[in-house]
Amino acid sequence: MLKGKGVSRGIGIGSILLIDQPLLEYTKKQVTDTKAEIKRLHDALNIFCEETENQANALKQTSGEKEVGILKGHIGIAKDPILLEEADKLISSGECAEAAFESICDMFINIFSSADDEITQQRATDVIDVKSGVLRILLGINDIRLSDVPHGTVLCARELTPSMLSGINKHNISAIITETGSTTSHSAILARVMEIPAVMSIPDIIITAKNGETAVVDGITGDVILSPDISQLEKYKLKCSRLIQEHKELEKFRGNPTTSADGIEYKLVCNIGKTEDVIKAMEHDGEGVGLFRTEFLFMDKNSAPTEEEQFNEYKKAALMLKGKPLIIRTLDIGGDKAIPYLGLKKEENPFMGLRAIRYCLKNRELFATQLRAILRASAFGNISIMFPMITCVEELREGKKLINHIKEQLKKKETAFNENIKIGIMTETAASVIIADLLAQEADFFSIGTNDLTGYTMAADRGNSDVSYLYSALQPSVLRMIKTIIEAGRNRNIPVGMCGEAAADPMMIPLLISFGLNEFSVSAPNVLRVRKYISEWTKQSADEVAAKAMSFATQQEISDYLKTIV
Ligand code: PEP
Ligand code: MG
Repeated sequence: MLKGKGVSRGIGIGSILLIDQPLLEYTKKQVTDTKAEIKRLHDALNIFCEETENQANALKQTSGEKEVGILKGHIGIAKDPILLEEADKLISSGECAEAAFESICDMFINIFSSADDEITQQRATDVIDVKSGVLRILLGINDIRLSDVPHGTVLCARELTPSMLSGINKHNISAIITETGSTTSHSAILARVMEIPAVMSIPDIIITAKNGETAVVDGITGDVILSPDISQLEKYKLKCSRLIQEHKELEKFRGNPTTSADGIEYKLVCNIGKTEDVIKAMEHDGEGVGLFRTEFLFMDKNSAPTEEEQFNEYKKAALMLKGKPLIIRTLDIGGDKAIPYLGLKKEENPFMGLRAIRYCLKNRELFATQLRAILRASAFGNISIMFPMITCVEELREGKKLINHIKEQLKKKETAFNENIKIGIMTETAASVIIADLLAQEADFFSIGTNDLTGYTMAADRGNSDVSYLYSALQPSVLRMIKTIIEAGRNRNIPVGMCGEAAADPMMIPLLISFGLNEFSVSAPNVLRVRKYISEWTKQSADEVAAKAMSFATQQEISDYLKTIV
């Protein structure tokens, strides 16, 4: 059995199709007619943009705007004026178009791939994609088209680019296996949207696997079996039908309110990163949006979105939700989320540096632009504002003061907005928990960000595998934090939600019900599953489990115990 990273849920069984990318080799030569060579490069870039535009249009039929956005991003790179200017300069000095374009792309690839955060690193993959696409055109090599592969195909490649995936007929692809890539790779995002099981990061898979060989791909565990024997095949077919059955059973929960077994009602909303994710949230029966990570609107761009652009996005999301709640979190950058053009300084310890609300309060214009866009959009739906990474009351007060100032400006201009817009905070730092009683007097709601809260409480980075044994929301310290926040919110009668990943964890659900959480905000595909989990508990049964869980001294004992009851 081979082990990789499961990046798209589901099990696929089928026949391997190895995707051999042609070598993009050429001999470097000196050119004398540099004008003609520059034209050759520009013609190739135009063809690339045209082809990519066509692929984006084809992709619109099968996927969402987000995936189309990846290809549009490639067009943006191919038209980037700095990249073009530098390539032209090299050609003018006598380099051939292939060498000039390749060396400029490599420069960008090096810069992006040495960044600390995965999102900037991902931009390196986009430039690699554009580089191969343009070199292919310059060298006259035909692109690999996956549009007519036979039914039951398992695509197996060193790397699958979004452009290769864009033309596929998803009904013919049973699964995807690649040597490179991770959960946040664009091809992984595409695989998830197309609901194709995928496992990435299997070293040398294209040497190990053979064309036509049967493969079992488990996108949940990351396991891949080549040439499975009968008993392995039977086992996975059974697992497959269990998954299908599970999906069908979850459909029973569609359209129902989210209630516990004794009838207590909860809000079950979604986490989104882009406006078009609202569609997925609605498709999966989400009751609104509990976290709009607006920093994604600032990524994949060369400059910050304008007030008008942001206003349009927030308004569109609010209108699509038709009165259902939309909690917009203000820009949460820094830590693992860098945005190159915002000029964040390199910090010794970025998770404790100038991130989120701290950055925004230091960069007032950027912050005010976003707040004005949100306030204006609030006239069109049920919008609330949420500040990330609050550690003291002053930050909340300063943010609110700025909002009040903008409200006054809008009134003077007779611009519509919701005067009573709710302003809440993410409770995701240890400091905010210790003073949750004080914050609850000035915030309209809390949303617990367990992803960061776990990291800050345990002093363990979420991305550091050496300390991952400490990083668990089931640590007694983190559970006590969660309980404290919820109690503080309840004492002041403000709603408390949870938008960290822990909100969808079946072991966590009885504890959260017992502590008195009001709202669960989860990724869209988890909505029906979480509604089912909640329906299985009464307050009393949850209280019993929580009392027992909280009596243990270690995370191991707590999770061992919870595993026996869910
Ligand atoms: C969190 O920290 O739990 C959270 C939801 O925010 P993010 O993952 O964006 O930091
Ligand atoms: Mg966070």
